[in-house]
Amino acid sequence: MSSSFKFKCFQYFFIIIFILNVFAATTILSSSTDDSSFNNFLDIAKSPEVFDWMINIRRKIHENPELAYQEFETSELIRSELDKMGISYKHPVAITGVIGFIGTGFSPFVALRADMDALPMQEMVEWEHKSKVAGKMHACGHDAHVTMLLGAAKILKQHEKEIQGTVVLVFQPAEEGGGGAKKILDSGALENVTAIFGLHIAPDLPIGEVDSKSGPILAGSGRFKAKISGKGGHAALPQHSIDPILAASNVIVSLQQLVSREADPLDSQVVTIAKFHGGSAFNVIPDYVTIGGTFRAFSKQSFNQLRQRIEQVIIGQAGVHRCNATVDVKPGYPPTVNNGDLHEHFVKVAVKMLGINKVDSFMTPIMAAEDFSFYQEVIPGYLFFLGVKNAEHEQFVPSLHSPYLKINEDGLPYGAALHASLAANYLLKHQQDIAPGVERKYHDEL
Ligand SMILES: [Zn+2]
Ligand SMILES: [Zn+2]
Repeated sequence: MSSSFKFKCFQYFFIIIFILNVFAATTILSSSTDDSSFNNFLDIAKSPEVFDWMINIRRKIHENPELAYQEFETSELIRSELDKMGISYKHPVAITGVIGFIGTGFSPFVALRADMDALPMQEMVEWEHKSKVAGKMHACGHDAHVTMLLGAAKILKQHEKEIQGTVVLVFQPAEEGGGGAKKILDSGALENVTAIFGLHIAPDLPIGEVDSKSGPILAGSGRFKAKISGKGGHAALPQHSIDPILAASNVIVSLQQLVSREADPLDSQVVTIAKFHGGSAFNVIPDYVTIGGTFRAFSKQSFNQLRQRIEQVIIGQAGVHRCNATVDVKPGYPPTVNNGDLHEHFVKVAVKMLGINKVDSFMTPIMAAEDFSFYQEVIPGYLFFLGVKNAEHEQFVPSLHSPYLKINEDGLPYGAALHASLAANYLLKHQQDIAPGVERKYHDEL
């Protein structure tokens, strides 16, 4: 009995030692990848001083929407806010773009991106801060993106002494079809940047919630237009004409079969014909018809296959009806593919800030496209969605690009704090990766 008692004491001793070890290891691990001074970012962002300032900026930009590469006043507003905060920046980059810098000026460099452009559409929401420019509207939330990045800048500037590297603020023009991201890259402004984060508002996601995933999250997009030419004539004497309306109709039906018959059903793709113009009178067969549309895929291989087959089908099917066709196919944006390591980093930061129930890390990909993908082709990048659901929108939730889109501004502090925390913690983690004695890169603009 006494020997069994001794054995038990021995066992308990080892269990206690084991628990103490685990506790110590966890403490060391968390202190080496985290900094408690970065834990209050959401509180700062929600403080009336920062929150009211952000709302004011967002409403100003919302009232004065500017289209791709014309974001001159938005750019000026950004620069004046950066000036007030004492943040240095580069301008102009890609016409209206602004690149700001916060931190040591030395590597590592991490970038945060916000797009600035609005859409050519009329706002239908009646509210105090409705767009003051007829036919232009911030219907994709880029007004909120700019605001949240300025919010992040304010938080990071307050903690500049603790930042272990440099945060590069990317205010980018022309996301809506203009490929502003590509122009920013071509300017060389992101040299030495080792990671880039971007966020997009999600009108159907509640406040304080985020979603994203590792790997492909948005599709690659392309566009095409075609002119199908026949021979016009009297609608009652079709034997004397070559009818391009019938040829174009068959072209459209055949194009629908590319996805349904030639693509792997498990590899999502889209071909949509969104334009069809032909004819001007009920009794005249027109000379020609023009059509246009978009195609989407998640892999380069599928994208190129679609691109090639769209051209073949239009020309071939037009030929069946004795028509000629010319086709113009243009690649748009590559697929948006999230980096796996940055996904882990995002989940860790977001769970810590918002709680595990507010972070969906297995979002279902969507077939929309984003020019953020251009950054990801050269820099590991990560895009996530941020909840801005409006309480008024319980039954009908207007989507992005809807004239009825109205975001809930209570989402702004979350975006600002997440941006700031993603960058600050990334630098902290990667600053430790730089071996002692290795010469650090210095940004020549600082
Ligand atoms: Zn958009
Ligand atoms: Zn957008």
